[in-house]
Amino acid sequence: MNKYDLIIAGGGTAGCAAAYTAGKFGLKTLLIEKNIHLGGTITSGLVVPVMKSGDNQINTDFYNALIEELHSIGGQVTYQNNSGWFNPELTKIALDTLMDKANVDVLFNTHIQDVIKEYKEIKAICLSKDILSPHNYSIQNTKEGLFEPIYARYVIDATGDCEIAKLCGCEFLENSNENQPTSLRFIMDGVDVKRFAQWILEFDKDREVTTVEEIDGITHLSTAYTWDNGKKWALAPLFDDAVNKGILKDADRNYFQIFTIPAMPNAIAFNCPRIIENYDPLCITDVSKVLKAGRESILRLSNFCKTYLQGFENAYVSNIADMLGVRVSRRIKGKYIYTIEDLKSGKKFEHPVLISNYPVDVHSRERNKSTLQKVQDYQLPIESLMSADIENLFVAGRCLSADFMAQGALRVQASCFSMGEGVAKYIANSH
Ligand SMILES: Cc1cc2nc3c(=O)[nH]c(=O)nc-3n(C[C@H](O)[C@H](O)[C@H](O)COP(=O)(O)OP(=O)(O)OC[C@H]3O[C@@H](n4cnc5c(N)ncnc54)[C@H](O)[C@@H]3O)c2cc1C
Repeated sequence: MNKYDLIIAGGGTAGCAAAYTAGKFGLKTLLIEKNIHLGGTITSGLVVPVMKSGDNQINTDFYNALIEELHSIGGQVTYQNNSGWFNPELTKIALDTLMDKANVDVLFNTHIQDVIKEYKEIKAICLSKDILSPHNYSIQNTKEGLFEPIYARYVIDATGDCEIAKLCGCEFLENSNENQPTSLRFIMDGVDVKRFAQWILEFDKDREVTTVEEIDGITHLSTAYTWDNGKKWALAPLFDDAVNKGILKDADRNYFQIFTIPAMPNAIAFNCPRIIENYDPLCITDVSKVLKAGRESILRLSNFCKTYLQGFENAYVSNIADMLGVRVSRRIKGKYIYTIEDLKSGKKFEHPVLISNYPVDVHSRERNKSTLQKVQDYQLPIESLMSADIENLFVAGRCLSADFMAQGALRVQASCFSMGEGVAKYIANSH
């Protein structure tokens, strides 16, 4: 019989941190990922860099191990005092290595079909049979080609969307009136980054939104523009002109942010397009429409860059994320529902899993309606990662038990790493 101490569903940001930590603490751990590699938003979603989340963070062993592993294969630099400047492709390899080092069994390309529940506990997870590439092949096929249930003492739902909790019939907090736009991120390669850096430094005289730094002889940079007031967006006249000429649609300019990428010296990662139509990230027909709309916008944005930005003349779209960038969707009803008041007051808890000062960052579909509010250090309690309905089910990542505004701060990658690590340590200590 397949039996684990811990099964983690979702090998993304929080799930990898949880699996690595559990493995290091000696738990027999299985990590199940529906994609063909680990990393979630970082790799599938091309969400790089990891944002800085304060100086007093806790549960950072996994994050530090990832930084070290990536650095050793040339996939990480520290830019403007932020060591989360990652290469998304090399992150896939670094995560494989870390899971091996922690003795975690990993199943890729694996779909969870069902859960076996007894009263208020999950007993087993049932997989569908279309597994193509098990990484550490310790799960055996039955004679019929179907997989036996895999038993576990504890389960962590790190799927971002509470997919396991949904199978369990848990209660959720999401409210259809409260949502954030999704984004489909992409990369352009073939950019003359040095030339672009020289040009943007000259063009953005105020430097309010542009930074450039030379690291080991390679130019790194970041700049941005949005249609919201409040900052001196040097690129604004270029976006206005492109909309007037029909190169961009008005909505294409609602959010534009770019970063260089370690080990890709001619590439630029885009934190856009942000799709502002009111789509439900849990509705498959909506998601299908938004993916198409996103790709159309990527084509327009890449033409914009080639036309208006010096250094982009020979650039081309090299990668489009294979995961829609969802900022918020289903959230579990936990043993504790963390609120924006808890966050703003810096309320202290007996068992915190993270400490952060990342701002309340809630994107809006409407002009000038987004929130980016600075806050002091805040803590998240372990109880916000415990299902209220199922005794041995925990969550980690953006699907935590928090109200909409608090989730807007807690959803960033550094905090998801800490959640994964914190919940795994809690389970290891209770085991
Ligand atoms: C467009 C965008 C930009 C962002 N920008 C930043 C940024 O610049 N910096 C920052 O720090 N944060 C940023 N964030 C926030 C952050 O990236 C995410 O909130 C965070 O990474 C979510 O982590 P997670 O572990 O909850 O989910 P994910 O990292 O998405 O992991 C979920 C994993 O579960 C897998 N999965 C899903 N369903 C199943 C299933 N049924 N079975 C098995 N596996 C499953 C997925 O394939 C995925 O690997 C951004 C988010 C978005 C959407």
